[in-house]
Amino acid sequence: MDPEIQPPPGKAEIKAKIWKLKTAPKIKHFLWKLLSGALATGDNLKRRHIRNHPQCHRCCQEDETSQHLFFDCFYAQQVWRASGIPHQELRTTGITMETKMELLLSSCLANRQPQLFNLAIWILWRLWKSRNQLVFQQKSISWQNTLQRARNDVQEWEDTNTYVQSLNQQVHSSRHQQPTMARTKWQRPPSTWIKYNYDGAFNHQTRNAKAGWLMRDENGVYMGSGQAIGSTTSDSLESEFQALIIAMQHAWSQGYRKVIFEGDSKQVEELMNNEKLNFGRFNWIREGRFWQKRFEEAVFKWVPRTNNQPADILAKHHLQPNQSFKFHYYVPAFITSTLYYDH
Ligand SMILES: [Zn+2]
Repeated sequence: MDPEIQPPPGKAEIKAKIWKLKTAPKIKHFLWKLLSGALATGDNLKRRHIRNHPQCHRCCQEDETSQHLFFDCFYAQQVWRASGIPHQELRTTGITMETKMELLLSSCLANRQPQLFNLAIWILWRLWKSRNQLVFQQKSISWQNTLQRARNDVQEWEDTNTYVQSLNQQVHSSRHQQPTMARTKWQRPPSTWIKYNYDGAFNHQTRNAKAGWLMRDENGVYMGSGQAIGSTTSDSLESEFQALIIAMQHAWSQGYRKVIFEGDSKQVEELMNNEKLNFGRFNWIREGRFWQKRFEEAVFKWVPRTNNQPADILAKHHLQPNQSFKFHYYVPAFITSTLYYDH
């Protein structure tokens, strides 16, 4: 066998486990890079002849290997010690990083104490983030703060998960219901999220497509609403898509990063959630995905039209001639009563 040919670093079985973890995609990519020696740590950069001084930026005493950065450095040691994760081996120097990762991923921790397991992987992520802030922004984050951020990450991840699961259940049960069109209560987004209700209006004669949307926060408080005249579309589905994309662009421009987009077009919701394929609408789906990727979290939800009244009224309400966009900082009079009902 040619001695020059080496398998890529990192045991294949451990790496395979990473993709099966129930965690955020960014964490999977990060763990995979860590195990593949693909993170830009001092020693990896030196190997690639990018940096000459591979020292740890934190202690300046040892080379910045992944092993050192994530486990052996005094900084990491303090985080692990205070984390409450029972594995002594994680803090034992001299055990390789790969063995520690193997231990972490193959231990019963994931099954028996998922919260501690999640904490362990978010600690790794936060150690890396804190290191990067130190290197690139000269910002020193205390180890206590790094641990606290990891704990917050775990909490946020679990909250989001529970929320998305409850959404799926609602969508599932609403699909099997008879379409009784009784209006139910509008549901608030979870804490730190914003909900956009959007709707498109399509005029069959003029082929004009209008969009209406409004945003509300976790307390159901009105945050603004808008109306826009979009490009000419060929049917009502396209005008719904267009309304969604305008709402996404607006949410992005406002700096919102976790947003629920709720509309009354079942087709749009199914296409955006990958439940159906439709090549005829490919360009619209691609555009939607392009915007979706820019958010930390963007969730698409369907509600019956009766539950989307404020957005529906906004989409249909006239705009002044030669006006193509209107933003309402205050609740416009024509949606006051329907908004009151939701609240
Ligand atoms: Zn160090």
